[in-house]
Amino acid sequence: MTAVNLKKILNDANKNNYSVAGLVVLSWDDALAFTQAADETGIPIILQAGPSCRAHTPISILGKMFRYLASQTKTNICCHIDHGYTLDECYEGIDSGFTSVMFDGSKLPLKQNIKVSKKISTRAHKHNISVEGEIGFVGYDNGKISEGTNIEDAITFANNSNIDAMAISVGNTHLQTSKKANIDFHKIKLIQNNVKIPLVLHGSSGIPFSQRKILARKTNVAKLNIGTEIRMAFGDSLRKNLKKNKQIYDRLKILNPTIKDLVKVTKKVITQIGPE
Ligand SMILES: [Zn+2]
Repeated sequence: MTAVNLKKILNDANKNNYSVAGLVVLSWDDALAFTQAADETGIPIILQAGPSCRAHTPISILGKMFRYLASQTKTNICCHIDHGYTLDECYEGIDSGFTSVMFDGSKLPLKQNIKVSKKISTRAHKHNISVEGEIGFVGYDNGKISEGTNIEDAITFANNSNIDAMAISVGNTHLQTSKKANIDFHKIKLIQNNVKIPLVLHGSSGIPFSQRKILARKTNVAKLNIGTEIRMAFGDSLRKNLKKNKQIYDRLKILNPTIKDLVKVTKKVITQIGPE
């Protein structure tokens, strides 16, 4: 299968009452594990390269890597830039093989957020690439506090920016290591009743499984970003392997067992919210 854009993968999800995981990639090893999980279950995924991934590996290499992995699988894979903060970062993603870019203008005044998101969308759409925008601010656990999405702003943003998916702040928080989020389903309903595009929740590691299931089956939230939960599983697996094999020093021998563990965890995550 070739890579697909975000619009295709999320519209399919909303039509069939499921959500797709936006899986946070840090390097080849986790990207490989995520793709294997998608292939083995037949459930589509979004591979996403966020700021720390792009600081570690050049974006042009990530674009080729994601596209290669997508071409090797039978399942739809979206190759996505997460949290592009500038026009140039998003354009670089568009030029590097990604099928989707996120412009995070959540810190900008509404008018400016609309203006820049629209500009990026115009260029992206010419190449059949999708754009995710954000309205309201999703904060960080032990860091900057969230500013919940204003419903009127969300409607204005969705209807004037030409974006294909909209990230909102409704009780979700980045980097949560325990499932303590309490999602405002009423606000989601009020937003989705007035916009046509799929919705996105960042920081979904902190959302309890029971709430993720409702989001997937009963709302237009079609993308749940999951990073921390899988990174924690990686850390646990790595520590376990090193403890078991104290003499081990070859990096590949250290990492290979963690890939198997990541495939297992990822399959669980994507199956819970995926097609029934
Ligand atoms: Zn995010």
